[in-house]
Amino acid sequence: MPGPSHLIVGDGITALAFLESCLTRDIVHVTVVGRTASQLGRGVAYARDAEDAPWRFAYLLNSPADDIDPAFAAWLAENWDRIEITMAGRKPDWLRAAAPLVAAGDVHGVNAPREFYGDFMELRAQQIIDQLRKAGIKVTLIDDIATSMRVEDHKVSIRTSGGQMLDAQSADVAPGGPETMRFEGDDGPFSAPSVFGYEHRISEHIKAGSEIFCIGGNAAMLDVLRLCQSHIPDSEIRFAFCAPEGEVPPPLVPTLPRRLAKPNLSPGHASAQSFLSEIRREIDAAEASGHERRDVRAGFRAHFLEHPLHLYVADPEEAAEVAKVLRFWLRGGTRDTIFDMRRLVDAGRVQIVKGHVRRIETTNTGATVVFDDEHGVTQRRETGFVVNCAGAAPHSRFDPLTEDLLRQGLIDRNRSGGLVIDAKCQTKAPNLRYLSPAVVQLGEEVVAMPLYDAHMLRTYVARAVS
Ligand SMILES: Cc1cc2nc3c(=O)[nH]c(=O)nc-3n(C[C@H](O)[C@H](O)[C@H](O)COP(=O)(O)OP(=O)(O)OC[C@H]3O[C@@H](n4cnc5c(N)ncnc54)[C@H](O)[C@@H]3O)c2cc1C
Repeated sequence: MPGPSHLIVGDGITALAFLESCLTRDIVHVTVVGRTASQLGRGVAYARDAEDAPWRFAYLLNSPADDIDPAFAAWLAENWDRIEITMAGRKPDWLRAAAPLVAAGDVHGVNAPREFYGDFMELRAQQIIDQLRKAGIKVTLIDDIATSMRVEDHKVSIRTSGGQMLDAQSADVAPGGPETMRFEGDDGPFSAPSVFGYEHRISEHIKAGSEIFCIGGNAAMLDVLRLCQSHIPDSEIRFAFCAPEGEVPPPLVPTLPRRLAKPNLSPGHASAQSFLSEIRREIDAAEASGHERRDVRAGFRAHFLEHPLHLYVADPEEAAEVAKVLRFWLRGGTRDTIFDMRRLVDAGRVQIVKGHVRRIETTNTGATVVFDDEHGVTQRRETGFVVNCAGAAPHSRFDPLTEDLLRQGLIDRNRSGGLVIDAKCQTKAPNLRYLSPAVVQLGEEVVAMPLYDAHMLRTYVARAVS
């Protein structure tokens, strides 16, 4: 086919954002290669579960729908009747948790099931593909994994695990984040290396009444609680999690009307410490004036998207220190699940263990978690079944293509393992762009808040092509 062609690797929201950008590019053919490119837009986080899975629709978005995407919030409201029918009678009772917001006319504020966001993104993908085809651009979707890439001046060639060789003039790579941190013994008879994909095994132990022990206190741990709730009543739950800070993250609660904290920050900081003390002052002032964590987090996100961190702290290493602390100060999670979690902690159904897990040992009837407590003393705790929810670590492995790009020096890793690319999602090759949630720096901009955020990823892609 005459004219430039383009390749996109990945099938999540970032790959879809790159596809959307093809509408304004001079190309005649775009090929998307993704594990499930036929469901482009869902990626890992918004995948569709089996129809008869009890946990289908149990996993929720971590923030109010309009913080993810105002268009998605509008879609939820338009489809509310159908959603009510789909969610009626499900465990846990999502409609009951959403009821106060719905009664207040704030459907946009609910923590929607992640699969619904996937439905919305898949529809969006179809609309974009239709627009591209109408504009005369051929679109090909291939379900496959890209394993390596060769980049020349005006040519990019991809090899796939299915044995295909694909060529184009340029490419965008959006392969998602790295693998979770692994622990010795996390894939044994009484342990699973992740919740996702291991639900059937974990469910057997939940239904048998075992205690479920999560490594990590983040969003995946909250998903495991939802998995438990999809099988048994709260009064039968036996659950524990171990995390260094030993606390449940604050819930992101939407206020009506929505409010955003508006930080007032001064430029020209030589050290992370000096900028962080200014940020702390702003967060404390916002909270003192009644802003919820959601208002503060969304306000800082909006602020740093408009005023990037390097405008305040020019030294990238100092800026990275700011981002590390900010990640903790502004963390927040799914309102519904955190309210449930607090209730279950009070009722003694959930135990919180403060420390760092070292390994898991198998016993005849369950597992022993070996961990260092907050004083650095090694402790052992018997449990029923362990689920690794630890998330990525500095030396986590990436997908094969990212590993290949790192080997070739087309993208870099910083000292703490985050990915470094150039401004506008550019790699070292002019015809190759890259973006994933693991990116921590684009050119001189150190990302202030983690890119594990649908809105931020879409914003960075939109800017890369403007
Ligand atoms: C379980 C979970 C829940 C989350 N919840 C939220 C939330 O509530 N709100 C929020 O804002 N963010 C959430 N996130 C963060 C999430 O990472 C981003 O919102 C966003 O979905 C990332 O999109 P992505 O397209 O960059 O990556 P992904 O969604 O990870 O998509 C990348 C896709 O590319 C495929 N792929 C990878 N390598 C290759 C290859 N070499 N060849 C072909 N295909 C490949 C992968 O299989 C994957 O499907 C969540 C993340 C996870 C994992």
